[in-house]
Amino acid sequence: MTVTNDRATPRAVRMAMPLARDVVEEIAKQYGVCIRPVPLRRQDILTGQTEVIDVPCGATLESKCPPCAKRNRQLRRAQCREGWHLDHEPVNLPNNADEYQRHLVELRADAQAWRDEVEKAGGDTTDLDAAIEDLDEEINRAGMRGNVLGRTSGKRTRSTKRRQDAPDLPKRQMTKTTLGRTFTGSDGKVYRPSMFVTLTLPSYGRVLEGAPLDPDRYDYGRAARDALHFSKLVDRFVQNLRRVAGYDVQYFATVEPQKRLAPHLHMAIRGTLPRAELRQIIAATYHQVWWPPADDVRFEGDHLPVWEDGAGYLDPTTGEVLPTWEQALDRLDQDEDAEPLHVLRFGDQLDIQSVLAGTPDADQLIQYLSKYLTKSLGDALGTDDPRRKAHAERLLEALRFEPCSPTCPNWLRYGVQPKGAKRGMAPGRCRGKAHKPDHLGYAGRRVLVSRKWSNKTLTEHKQDRRTWVLEALGVEDEPVDPHRYVWKPVKPGDPELAPIGVRLLRSVHQRQRWRNHLDRLQAAADGQVLSATEGRAA
Ligand SMILES: [Zn+2]
Ligand SMILES: [Zn+2]
Repeated sequence: MTVTNDRATPRAVRMAMPLARDVVEEIAKQYGVCIRPVPLRRQDILTGQTEVIDVPCGATLESKCPPCAKRNRQLRRAQCREGWHLDHEPVNLPNNADEYQRHLVELRADAQAWRDEVEKAGGDTTDLDAAIEDLDEEINRAGMRGNVLGRTSGKRTRSTKRRQDAPDLPKRQMTKTTLGRTFTGSDGKVYRPSMFVTLTLPSYGRVLEGAPLDPDRYDYGRAARDALHFSKLVDRFVQNLRRVAGYDVQYFATVEPQKRLAPHLHMAIRGTLPRAELRQIIAATYHQVWWPPADDVRFEGDHLPVWEDGAGYLDPTTGEVLPTWEQALDRLDQDEDAEPLHVLRFGDQLDIQSVLAGTPDADQLIQYLSKYLTKSLGDALGTDDPRRKAHAERLLEALRFEPCSPTCPNWLRYGVQPKGAKRGMAPGRCRGKAHKPDHLGYAGRRVLVSRKWSNKTLTEHKQDRRTWVLEALGVEDEPVDPHRYVWKPVKPGDPELAPIGVRLLRSVHQRQRWRNHLDRLQAAADGQVLSATEGRAA
């Protein structure tokens, strides 16, 4: 391979060491290089050789790593395009945990152990927590459902009374297809229309330029609960949609923040339904949250439940053991007059568009769909606009004591022991994602893709790009025995681990070499096309 030509190498790259980290990061960003790479030691079982390799962090938010976020957005767009107007049933292969997934899970386990060690030693775990969060997301993206620790499992059989009632909607006979209907035009051309839907949450008070006109009358409590349970409402919508449509409707959706900081949903739907019917489904869709009451504060300030080994949390005054999560739910089941803690519905503001495959409209909508995907829901906290900043802060405050999940320590405030209660829990100090400024209540996935959207998973889309680059470089992408390499995390301070600045610049250098090579190939290809055209003209 050609040695990098010096002219194209920024001076800064050659001066590696003395640069400040932020300068190096700027350069890395310009070259599309991950700024938070995860170092891994790769051991080749055949040769015994080990090598430290930087793996991109794979962040989805610009605030964490702009180059990775950008790459992710491009992949998402490709994935959305792939499935929207599919004209044949996708073939779904069994979802075996492949090598990459297994590797991620091992890495996740190591990261957790490492994090726990740091915590035990009284160190700062912020970076590790962020890395673990990203790993969890990556594992989900790689095709696994749920959380590696299995925290989300544990379905409860609820009495029939508490079941979600099915709304009163027309119902069609279910057919097995995932494809929408086609229409034949008078010219004999076959059209395959699809839909693009935008769904919002209801109003919590009048808003001007992303902040309430009257903050005191803005319903922050409702806004907080709606955001916390938004993904359940979306699930209900899909269930109702399929029931009415009578086929296995597939979708690609993104959850993005509105200016008023409420999550809303853009959804590309394969196939089409009469507009009036879709409106009817949206209006009839609701979700009931059957959780214990959380409106009357029982313990706060210094008056908090106390922990006793073997007993759990006790009322600090009476010494009475507080009901456990399971007991609280049983109580709810037995109470004839119990009301759900919260009921969610969509707001009146909705948008339904019909889209035809391959039109500029379709492409524009895909751009629109992923427009804010790399922005965090809480970006407004960093704005200069004092009204919007104050609005974000008030919402964050409303979320502070709102229970985010059955395991949330905030349940203690309402007299219930959180699921899996343990020593040291305190209301207002939940570490769940939903309470964090980056999420503002919505801790779910930002991209929701139904299982039979396209034939490819995101990992496969990634693989496509990789194959393309390798082919362009003339490097053969030979199948590697999945058991050939063993990956291990590299701990900070490892003598083989170069300083981050040096590693970033190395990646920039490598990226540049690829780019030069690709440019030359492109130029050569253009030259051939040109001479071929000239040949024809002659
Ligand atoms: Zn990155
Ligand atoms: Zn919580």
